[in-house]
Amino acid sequence: MSFYITTPIYYVNAEPHLGHAYTTIAADILARHMRQRGEDVFFLTGTDEHGEPVAQAAEREGVAPRELADRNSVKFRDLVKRLGATNDFFIRTSDPEHERAVQEVVQKIHDNGHVYAGTYEGYYCPRCADFKTEAELVDGTKCPIHLIVLEREKEDNWFFKLSAFQEPLERLYAERPEWVTPQSRYNEALSFIKQGLNDVSLSRARISWGVPVPWDESQVIYVWIDALLNYYTALSYAREGEDLTERYWPARHLIGKDILKFHAVIWPAMLMAAGIEVPRSIFIHGYLLMDEHKMSKSLGNVIDPLEVMDRFGTDTLRYYLFREVNFGQDGSISAAGFETRYNAELANEYGNLASRTLAMIARYRDGLVPDASLDEQLAGDLAEVHERVREKLDAVDISGALEEIWTAVRRLNRFVQDEEPWKLAKDEGAAERLDAVLCSLAEGLRVLSVLVHPYMPDSAERLLAALGQEDLSYDGASFGARGGGAQTSKLEPLFPRIEPPAAAA
Ligand SMILES: [Zn+2]
Repeated sequence: MSFYITTPIYYVNAEPHLGHAYTTIAADILARHMRQRGEDVFFLTGTDEHGEPVAQAAEREGVAPRELADRNSVKFRDLVKRLGATNDFFIRTSDPEHERAVQEVVQKIHDNGHVYAGTYEGYYCPRCADFKTEAELVDGTKCPIHLIVLEREKEDNWFFKLSAFQEPLERLYAERPEWVTPQSRYNEALSFIKQGLNDVSLSRARISWGVPVPWDESQVIYVWIDALLNYYTALSYAREGEDLTERYWPARHLIGKDILKFHAVIWPAMLMAAGIEVPRSIFIHGYLLMDEHKMSKSLGNVIDPLEVMDRFGTDTLRYYLFREVNFGQDGSISAAGFETRYNAELANEYGNLASRTLAMIARYRDGLVPDASLDEQLAGDLAEVHERVREKLDAVDISGALEEIWTAVRRLNRFVQDEEPWKLAKDEGAAERLDAVLCSLAEGLRVLSVLVHPYMPDSAERLLAALGQEDLSYDGASFGARGGGAQTSKLEPLFPRIEPPAAAA
């Protein structure tokens, strides 16, 4: 079975921020992990470019919408690169191939009898590019997200008969209890469906920056419909001369909780209406909340992802976000929290374990990992780690899998403390034991580095290279899969400690 993972496409009107980085890294961790397992992976991200907000911003600047979209899309593409994401394609909804494919699907929905002409009247938020129901409004007629006063607007447009899909959606939820996770989000989406579904606009009349409705060129397809379809259209043109739809569809989506309704209700209904299989699964993550009170001396009071990547390496950001906050829930991050975890876990527990192990192998065995039998107790404790990591990542428990890996990092540190190899080295009668300890340490480090590679690819690769073990495949991820005998080499510190700046005299 193939593994097709997506992030939401990012709206070009916003500046790239930590939230975009968060979902992109999560998808990348899953994609890298599945590639290690030899799965046929396709990882998609990109930018959402149509709609009124982009047209308005372009008008303010006196440029064409496409020019603005071109310029802003690059910022997201650059962010994706800087994060080390291994996406197989970067879709832009202004791609002509996407536009054509959107028209085809929408035409199918129309031809299958799920579209009608009507008049829409409601409170419209131009920043959301969405009408709000009365129940959603706050403080009178304000958008619940943007807190701006909304006007009541009216226009003729084409409607999608979402109401006709209430029963099919309820059946989908009943038959596939894990198609939306975590459970709380499944419940939220299902109760929204059970409240009764209203039809939704499929097109807009007043704007031109969008995909024309194929049977009515005076209207453009509503930006959300256009955007959701990216997950499906991308496969038809991501590789030149090849249609990957059969190979990879249906997708697994990763999204933030603010776009649950679109993905878990409207999107599957649209696909059913077009006769296309619904997504395999949708995982909804929470928000990262910046705790500005916990400041650090070296980073200040806010985490700027670009600064963190510049100063401490991309891996440290990738690690911290999934270590600090349980993926799926809301949680706080802080500059002080970053510094604490960096020093305590990356510098001390992982980095120092690596340096010590390599230094001892160099000093006591000329850099050659002894070919010895592995410590039995350690082997017992580490025997299942790779299986538990696999199970957790299959359930999109990215933080849980990292916790499993870290428990094993700590177990290896305890092994060093208990065995005190520097004492064994002074005792000629303990040479065999020292061989076993060094071989076990090298093997443990190797396994942990293979497992942690999706999170911290650069650091794990450097460490594996120094261990003389470059194979990243999951087949080799179990403790004992490789023996001793490898020639090690010197490794510069993976995570030099963050020292607070010297206080002014
Ligand atoms: Zn709004």
